[in-house]
Amino acid sequence: MSFKHRVVIVGGGFGGLHTGKALNRPDVEVTILDRRNYHLFQPLLYQVATGGLSPGEIAAPLRAIFEMQKNLRVLMTEVRDFDLERKVVLSDMGEIPYDSLVLAAGAQTSYFGNDKWSPIAPSLKNIEDATKLRAKILSAFEEAEKESDPERRRAWLTFLIVGGGPTGVELAGALSEIANDALREDFRSFDPEDARIMIIDASPRILGAFSEKLAKSAERQLIEINVRCRNGVRVLGITPEGATVQANGQQEFIDARTVIWAAGVTGSPLGAALAKAAKVELARGGKIEVAPDCSLPGYPDIFVVGDLANFQHGLERSLPGVCQTAMQMGDYAGDLIGKRLDGKTKPPFRYWDKGNMAVIGRRRAVAQIGKLEFSGYFAWLLWAFIHVLYLVNFQSRIIVAIRWGFDYFSFNRGARLITRQDQQPPGS
Ligand SMILES: Cc1cc2nc3c(=O)[nH]c(=O)nc-3n(C[C@H](O)[C@H](O)[C@H](O)COP(=O)(O)OP(=O)(O)OC[C@H]3O[C@@H](n4cnc5c(N)ncnc54)[C@H](O)[C@@H]3O)c2cc1C
Repeated sequence: MSFKHRVVIVGGGFGGLHTGKALNRPDVEVTILDRRNYHLFQPLLYQVATGGLSPGEIAAPLRAIFEMQKNLRVLMTEVRDFDLERKVVLSDMGEIPYDSLVLAAGAQTSYFGNDKWSPIAPSLKNIEDATKLRAKILSAFEEAEKESDPERRRAWLTFLIVGGGPTGVELAGALSEIANDALREDFRSFDPEDARIMIIDASPRILGAFSEKLAKSAERQLIEINVRCRNGVRVLGITPEGATVQANGQQEFIDARTVIWAAGVTGSPLGAALAKAAKVELARGGKIEVAPDCSLPGYPDIFVVGDLANFQHGLERSLPGVCQTAMQMGDYAGDLIGKRLDGKTKPPFRYWDKGNMAVIGRRRAVAQIGKLEFSGYFAWLLWAFIHVLYLVNFQSRIIVAIRWGFDYFSFNRGARLITRQDQQPPGS
């Protein structure tokens, strides 16, 4: 048998998926390593957390995605470390040798050194987080139904979201839809419309990655659906009863039995492992600084793509941690590995900014595409179209479209189950 170039890709997210697809050629043997057996469409996690979609509708088995690509295999394993001299990946299933390595392990939630807040103020990064969050949100309404004291009931009906980026805004909008539409007729001792939904953010405005005009529009659209945004507010502490915050130099306590953390991410610990093995410093946000061709400086056979890469060359700001960045870097790294095998090369990586969107709820969104800015219904249509289109698995694409259509006309949120394994004791 002739020699095949072994490419090991760590991570089956958007970066890993696109690298693998770009390497569909017979002289290459591709192995994708992931701790999960599925690819997750993270932009729709908030829909699972708020009962709009079921987990299976936003995930697709990696094996199904690559069933036709015979030069690629998927191995489900936890990757731990790297031995760069011997060119092996160290994983729970042992050592896996590579000729080229592509690290696409993504990012994880950061509590900025306050990890003790994590059990009380859950975040949203994977399916497990989303189903736990869904149980927490729905349980808060159940507890409010049992509560006779008005103050305590108010605390159960207060939802505090820390972080005014797209995830915080999307969650707030979906929570408002639950309270104002889906659950409107479900409870007897209170009106779900009395729910208080609040976004707090330490920076002067929400949606910092968007223009000021669009951020203002988003804030107006949130107010229309009873979501309050408070900017310049810093969290000092979180307990099961609520959060202590600092605003205008004053401390205050917000009684909120549901606090959701949507404030930050940091690179996967595999970034730190690679940096240590290569004896380089980690960049800001726990990321790996990459060369203009997305490789690890000094290691032309190692590439870092997606959320874990810090790419700044010639740019005012590093590339954003979004799907487009991961997909384009993955395409590039895969293509470059192939080109090199053909004895060719490629110009440095260039990012094509296709725009930025955040959905606020039914008929409400903001979108920035080049110099064009949209808000309201048209932005929402654009958002819905693009998100359904990108759902990688054909079957879920159809199911999601049908479910959305049905919910749109019926004001329903069909996946609002509280399962015992996701449930935590009330107040925790
Ligand atoms: C709630 C939420 C909403 C978002 N909304 C948007 C949006 O609207 N638009 C947008 O463009 N972007 C959005 N993003 C960001 C987007 O999802 C990421 O930029 C993108 O997924 C990055 O792709 P990636 O391949 O770098 O990492 P990921 O997609 O995170 O994939 C990393 C993979 O690596 C695997 N992995 C990690 N560590 C190990 C290990 N040690 N061993 C084995 N496997 C491992 C993981 O299981 C995972 O499958 C959102 C993210 C979140 C969390």
